[in-house]
Formats: sequence, structure tokens, C-alpha cells
Amino acid sequence: MSDMRAMVLRATGQPLVAEQRPLPVPGRGQARVRVHACAVCRTDLHVVDGELPDVRPPIIPGHEIAGVVDAVGPGCRLGAGARVGIPWLGWTCGECDYCRSGRENLCDAARFTGYQIDGGYAEYTLADERYCLPLPDALDDAHAAPLLCAGLIGHRALRAAGPGKRLGLYGFGAAAHLIAQIALHEGREIAAFTRPGDQAAADFARALGVQWAGPSTGPPPWPLDAAIIFAPVGALVPTALRAVRKGGRVVCAGIHMSPIPEFPYQWLWGERELVSVANLTRADGVEFMRLAATLPLRIEVTPYALGDAQRALDDLRAGRLQGAAVLQP
Ligand SMILES: [Zn+2]
Ligand SMILES: [Zn+2]
Repeated sequence: MSDMRAMVLRATGQPLVAEQRPLPVPGRGQARVRVHACAVCRTDLHVVDGELPDVRPPIIPGHEIAGVVDAVGPGCRLGAGARVGIPWLGWTCGECDYCRSGRENLCDAARFTGYQIDGGYAEYTLADERYCLPLPDALDDAHAAPLLCAGLIGHRALRAAGPGKRLGLYGFGAAAHLIAQIALHEGREIAAFTRPGDQAAADFARALGVQWAGPSTGPPPWPLDAAIIFAPVGALVPTALRAVRKGGRVVCAGIHMSPIPEFPYQWLWGERELVSVANLTRADGVEFMRLAATLPLRIEVTPYALGDAQRALDDLRAGRLQGAAVLQP
């Protein structure tokens, strides 16, 4: 076989197009991976919609890839048959201030899977072996794939939120459903804020054990120590600031948000903090995969065929999903 099927973004704002493409040939240090599962992330929507800077089609989206190495280029230390995960961070320069200070997630020259590098909405993809991650043995590919961004960046956001006991999660999708379970495991109390009227999302959150679930437009059940905003809705920033107590922290975990409305300084005052979380480091990935292997995570997955990638994106956009959509090429 010398061809593969891929779902390609040919122009931003346009539906993905199915293409037959030649099998990519791994270069130095690269592995070719047979994609078994690729989870669909909200960031894919931001790429497809052209909401991120410098989206340059044609692009194969997808950055939560679980699969098996099927060929390697010169100097690649992975062997054929190795099971790997491919996350969002695909390449860094290794030389800039950020890279040298353990913050490669902020590297100015970083390249990202499914954005600058063709990703996992395809039967095969290439990856720099240095950025591939091990996957927990106990999870099959479809259930491991959402860990690679929803879980991983969600976990970075959870750590950024600090150790406070009472945690608010705004937007209860793929990331929040994983991070809620980890936070509950740590003994925290969770308030899950969902879209007003989205009873299914609130019920889903309660079924996972959160102490409270309700609409994001209403007040929190108790003052929060910290809040994480996963929804791409800037209006939630002042809402969350009002929900955290003095000294509390609000973490914006998404890569893109609608504009943040003006709000009185008083809502930030009292040493409340507002921070963002960007991308991931390889160390985050290794640490999180180790943690995920020790927890009985309930990972909610909705499978789609590769050819239904556009439908998966549409369902994510419309909020018709519980947990994570996963393509199975
Ligand atoms: Zn760098
Ligand atoms: Zn993502």
C-alpha cells in the first residue's frame, strides 16, 4: 500500500475534504505512525475556523493521536510496533530562553501538530520521535487519545489553579470531564458550570461525582478557591473572577477566547489572579501519562469514522457531545 486517506483543511471556514495522499516518508528522527485513534479538540475548531494566527492550509488537523509506529527514518530510536501518543507540541527550537528554562511550551519557534505539522485526521502521520509520549497500557487507543490534549493541558491548568479545595470548572467537555475526576481523587470539591439549559452536560458532570452542577450564568454554590475556564467564552472571565474568593485564581485553559468584556477593577482586587495556560511541555506529558496510568479514569468517548471528521467537528461546535469525540481511521 502506498496511499492513505486523510481529511484535509483546504481553506479556513470550509468543510474538510477527503483526499488520497501518498504515504508520508519518515525523515531523520521521525517515526511514521499508523493512526488508530485521534481525538477531536476544540483547538481543531479554532484551526478550521481560522481563529488562530497564520493558519496555512492545506493542513491535516488532529493532535491527540494514539497509534503504532510502522516505519522510522534514520536516527529514530523508536522501533516499528512501538505504541505511541502524539500530542500538540510537535517541535521546539531547544535554544531560546523559554526552551532553556524548562518552558518549551512557550518557545517562539514551536511547531504544533495539526496546525503547522500535519496531524492525525488521517490513516498515517509523521512525528518527531522526541515529542512522542508513552501511553498507559491499561487504556485502548480510543480511550488514550483524549489524554493527549484534553487530559494533558487540562492537568497543566489544574496545577496552575493551585491547591485550593473548592474548584470551579467552566465548560464541561472533554478536558473538564477528565480533570474533574483527577481533582475529586485529590479530595477537592467541584462546581461544574455548564451552558444555561444544557441539562445533559450538568447530569453528565453529576454522574462523574461533582458536588454541584449548574448554569454558568448563576452564582457558585460556595466561594471558589480557583476556577478553570475551558469554554472559549471571554464573558466567563469576569463571571469566574466574581465567583472566586479573595486570593483566588482564575485559569484560562483554552488557546482562543472571544473578547473579554470590560469589568470593574473591584472584581480583580483582593489579590485575585487571572492567568492563562499555553500548550504543554514534554515533561508535562510524561508526568501526566504516569498519573493517568494510576487512576481509574472514566473516559467518555464518542467514536467516529475518519470520513465523518466534519460531523465530529460540527457536533463539538454544537455541544452535542459528552466527553470526547474520537476518530478511528
Ligand atoms: Zn525555543
Ligand atoms: Zn487540543
